[in-house]
Amino acid sequence: MKNICVIGVGYVGLVTGACLADLGNRVVCVNQNKEKAANLKKGILPIFEPGLEEIVRRNYEAGRLDFTTFYDEGLKDAEFVFVAVGTPSGSEGEADLSHVTAAATEVAQHLAHPLIIVNKSTVPIGTGDWVADIITTHKVKGVEFAVVSNPEFLREGSGVHDFMNPDRIVLGSTSRAAAEKVAELYTPLQATTIITDLRTAEMIKYASNCFLATKISFINEMANVCEAVGADVLEVARGMGSDKRIGPAFLSAGLGWGGSCFPKDVKALAHIAATHGAHPQMLRAVMEINYDQRKRVLSKLRELLGTFRGKTVGLLGLSFKPNTDDMRDAPSIELAHMLENEGAHVQAYDPVATGNARKILKSVTFCETPYAVAEGADALVLVTEWNEFKQLDMQRIARSMRQPVLFDARNIYDPAKMRALGFTYRGIGRGYNGNGQPG
Ligand code: NAD
Repeated sequence: MKNICVIGVGYVGLVTGACLADLGNRVVCVNQNKEKAANLKKGILPIFEPGLEEIVRRNYEAGRLDFTTFYDEGLKDAEFVFVAVGTPSGSEGEADLSHVTAAATEVAQHLAHPLIIVNKSTVPIGTGDWVADIITTHKVKGVEFAVVSNPEFLREGSGVHDFMNPDRIVLGSTSRAAAEKVAELYTPLQATTIITDLRTAEMIKYASNCFLATKISFINEMANVCEAVGADVLEVARGMGSDKRIGPAFLSAGLGWGGSCFPKDVKALAHIAATHGAHPQMLRAVMEINYDQRKRVLSKLRELLGTFRGKTVGLLGLSFKPNTDDMRDAPSIELAHMLENEGAHVQAYDPVATGNARKILKSVTFCETPYAVAEGADALVLVTEWNEFKQLDMQRIARSMRQPVLFDARNIYDPAKMRALGFTYRGIGRGYNGNGQPG
C-alpha cells in the first residue's frame, strides 16, 4: 500500500486515482472545484466513463480514495503525486501548459518530504525537465524529489479497462530508481514496462497518438479513392487489417478523428517539430485530410438535398465517439455549424453527451429519442456509432422523415437493406454495392 496524490479529476485523473485505489493504495485526488470534490464524495462524477462510478464509490467507502481541494491535504503523506491536468491547444496549436505550471508550482510550494512527481498529462518534449526546474525554484531547500514521465494511453469509453489492462507502461526519468518505484505501483497489472529517459517517454505518447490519427486519415483517403473507383472501403479495411503487419484497429472510415486528444496532440507535435526546425509534412497532411473529410460529408449531403436552406437535418450522436460524454473537438460540432451556416435547421440526439453539447451548440434542437430526430427531417446523418443506433426501427424512421435521406457517416448500416426500406443511402467509401449505385 502506497500513499498517492492525484492532481485533476478528469478522464485521466479520476480513472488513475480510482484504479490505483482499487489496486490497494491510499489515494487522495486534488482539484480546485469545491462542488466537484463534494459531489465525488457522494459518488457523483464530473464525467461519464463506464464502470468508473462503481469503483469510485467502492474505494471511497473503503477509505482508500478521497477528494480535496487543498494541495497540502493531498500531499500530506504522499510518496507519489500523479499530475493529470489538461493540456489543451494554444492559439498557435502549441500545448497550453498553464495547468501543468500551476500544478507543479502548487506541488513545489507544499513539498515537505521526498516526493516522486509522475506526469500523466500529454506534454511537449522537455516538459519534465522544465517541471523539475519549477519545483527546484519554488521548493524549500534540501527536500528531494524526482520527476517521472508516465504518459497515459487509456481510451475514453473504456478508460477503466484500459488502465487495468495496458498494452504497455511507459516510464521516463533521469532517475532510474524513481522510475522503478513507479513501476512497482503497476506490478499487479503484469504489463510490459518500458523504462527510458524523460524526453523519449514524452515523445512516445505523441508519436503513438499521431500514428493512430494517421491511420484514420489514411483509411479516409482510401475511402475517397474507393468512391471514385467503385470499391467498398469496409472490405478494403478488412482485407488490409487481416495483415498482422497492419492490424484492423483504427481502419474505420468516417467523419474523421476528433475528441480531446488527437486534434490537439497532432497539432502540438507539428508545432514542436516546426519550432525545432523539423518539417512535419506528414502531420500536416494528416490534419488536412481530416478537415477535408468533414467538408466532403457536407458537400455529398448538399448534392442530395440541393440546398440546405429551409431544410432540417437530424444528427444521430454528438460525442466524438461512443461511450463518452466528451464533446471536445467532436466532428459533430463543425458539421452542425457548417449546416447552420448554409441555412439548415439542425436537430440532434445523443444518449449521454446532450448536456455537454447544449453548452456548445446553442441553436441546435435537442431531441429526447433517436426517432424524434428523424421526425420531419430532410436528411439524417449518423455521426456517432452508439450501439443503440444499430438496432433502431429504420422503417419507422424512414416513414417519419420528410425525405428519407440517410447519410451513414460511420458505415454501420447495410446499404442494400437501407435502400430496400426506401432510404436514399450514402455511406463513406462504399463505392460498390452490387447494383451500381453509389455508396
Ligand atoms: P480533463 O479536462 O478531463 O481533466 C483535467 C482535470 O484537471 C480537471 O479535473 C481539472 O479541473 C483539473 N485541473 C486543471 N488544473 C488544475 C490544477 N492546477 N490543480 C488541480 N486540478 C487541476 O482532461 P483529461 O481528458 O483527463 O486529460 C488530462 C491529460 O491527459 C491531458 O494532457 C490529455 O492529453 C491526457 N490524456 C487524455 C486522455 C483522454 O482520453 N482524455 C488519454 C490519455 C492522455
